[in-house]
Amino acid sequence: QWNAYEKIDYVFKVVVIGDSAVGKSQLLSRFTKNEFCFDSKSTIGVEFQTRTVTIKGKVIKAQIWDTAGQERYRAVTSAYYRGALGAMLVYDITKRPSFDHVARWVEELRAHADNSIVITLIGNKADLVDLRAVPTEDAIEFAENQGLFFSETSALSGDNVDTAFFRLLEEIYGVVS
Ligand code: GDP
Ligand code: MG
Repeated sequence: QWNAYEKIDYVFKVVVIGDSAVGKSQLLSRFTKNEFCFDSKSTIGVEFQTRTVTIKGKVIKAQIWDTAGQERYRAVTSAYYRGALGAMLVYDITKRPSFDHVARWVEELRAHADNSIVITLIGNKADLVDLRAVPTEDAIEFAENQGLFFSETSALSGDNVDTAFFRLLEEIYGVVS
């Protein structure tokens, strides 16, 4: 899949944001390592992980940044957003407050990130169907109003994780190319 001699055409910085415990770190490890860690403690120290993909014949290194436990409102610094071309804004489909806070996270992005940043709203933990607290239609409506892409994912099963990241990276490619 990855050839060390291949040249990288683009590096895309993508930030993952959203309330604590919605599954941001697990989404990142699912996408970059195809792993899910059952006993993961809150992430400290790890700044970003990468995965190199090919989009429309171009080699793109996706540099995916994790908040590393700084997700308390307004604690994420503007340095985190600097240079980001994409954002994954994650809520937990079983935790209504995590969806209610999405509007604030969009404000944070609009305040600190580039105007052209591509944003995907992610309803994670879609495997927990019996505990669903956020109807899919509510999220679709919000995403349409705000001009965001939207997917429901499960970092646990892996469902839709690659699809959502690839769609974001393709959109970014469309913006920068
Ligand atoms: P973060 O604080 O947003 O980085 O959240 P974590 O990635 O640390 O995940 C918080 C908790 O949710 C952990 O106990 C994970 O095992 C669990 N979790 C994360 N993603 C999923 C998922 O897709 N499904 C289920 N059932 N649990 C998940
Ligand atoms: Mg985390």
